[in-house]
Amino acid sequence: MNDTSRPIGPVRSPDGEPGRDPDLHPPLPWAAKHRAEQPSALLRLFDWVAGAGGELLALAVPVDCVCCGAEDKALCAACSGRIRHLTRRPFRAEGGAPALMDVAGTVLLPVVAAGVYREELAQGLLSFKRHGQHQVGESLARALAAAVRAATADGDGFVLVPVPTSTAAYVNRGFSPVHLLLKEAAGHLPGAAVVDVLRKVRPTGARTPAWPGRPGGQKGLGRGARSQRVRGSMRVSGRSRPLVAGRSCIIVDDVLTTGATIGEAARALHQAGAKVRGAVVLAATRPPEAPEPAAGARAGPPKQP
Ligand SMILES: [Zn+2]
Repeated sequence: MNDTSRPIGPVRSPDGEPGRDPDLHPPLPWAAKHRAEQPSALLRLFDWVAGAGGELLALAVPVDCVCCGAEDKALCAACSGRIRHLTRRPFRAEGGAPALMDVAGTVLLPVVAAGVYREELAQGLLSFKRHGQHQVGESLARALAAAVRAATADGDGFVLVPVPTSTAAYVNRGFSPVHLLLKEAAGHLPGAAVVDVLRKVRPTGARTPAWPGRPGGQKGLGRGARSQRVRGSMRVSGRSRPLVAGRSCIIVDDVLTTGATIGEAARALHQAGAKVRGAVVLAATRPPEAPEPAAGARAGPPKQP
């Protein structure tokens, strides 16, 4: 055997025994050639388990519900029902997001939320963001799809643009929760076009106009420290611009807090020539101001302020 191509040092078998002939003891089929490939191979395995395989596996291995801990599926029927209940009335949520309102209380960007970030909706989303369980994702995606329908009730022709995950978060999780949810939600939205054009970039700091073409918009965004941090942190690449330029866009994110992230996504899309009509989120941390909308009142489509 020609040893010049071999790495220096004794050849070790998987069980650590040095010097075994690799031809007689080939590497295990799932042992990746390069260490760097192992995480993705593992993630593919998890994907498989989380998908169709998970249904079979659940028959043999007890799984705890991520919300109540009952030995059932990743999301038991009762908690799935609770998520449906918590998201039964999508509502306008920008009023609780300081970065999306200016000091005079004018709406800079309307946002429709599927529900309030609490109880099973919060637990389910948190768990999905960590582990990406398929059953939890299905339940959340249905709620997200309903919120998109509520937001776009007065017509179609919108393109849905997911907010990008930070590179660090993507590396940690191996997936982007928002993209996964939106992909699943699009299955419930015939004719919906998802365009993944926003990219994270290193923020350039000050001097990036927050809301091009909107007088007074800077005031709203300038108030929060978070807005300052995220400003200039997203862009649409020149190659992707034709996908959104001149088109009506709805930004999609998982949770609305201050609105700084969605505001930055809107800025980047405006800059690329898109007509940003509003945003849709799965959950808003602040409840709507009116406790319950009147019967028959819908969340209403986001309107250009
Ligand atoms: Zn449960």
